[in-house]
Amino acid sequence: MSTADDRAHCDDAPGKLIPVVDIRRCEAKQDCVEVCPYDVFEVRRIDDADFARLSLLGKLRNIVHGRRLAYTPRAADCHGCGLCVSACPEKAIKLSRAR
Ligand code: SF4
Repeated sequence: MSTADDRAHCDDAPGKLIPVVDIRRCEAKQDCVEVCPYDVFEVRRIDDADFARLSLLGKLRNIVHGRRLAYTPRAADCHGCGLCVSACPEKAIKLSRAR
């Protein structure tokens, strides 16, 4: 779990950057959930539409990992610290400029 100290390193204002999860790489290991000081992520069952976008190999990988995926329901709260990018063992997260 993240702490107030972690939030101190996330001092950029929210709304500039958002995390983008590569659904082809994510293995729902939850590191992003655990490190994010702002509770941006949620790991849950993959949406049917996202599952349909995966290749056959991607579908098999996703099934092996419990048909789960990291989502960003609170992306607007992202402060752009990059902790999730560093923590993801699959290198599945990038920060992108918010629109
Ligand atoms: S960069 Fe990642 S860890 Fe940091 S606030 Fe944004 S979503 Fe959370």
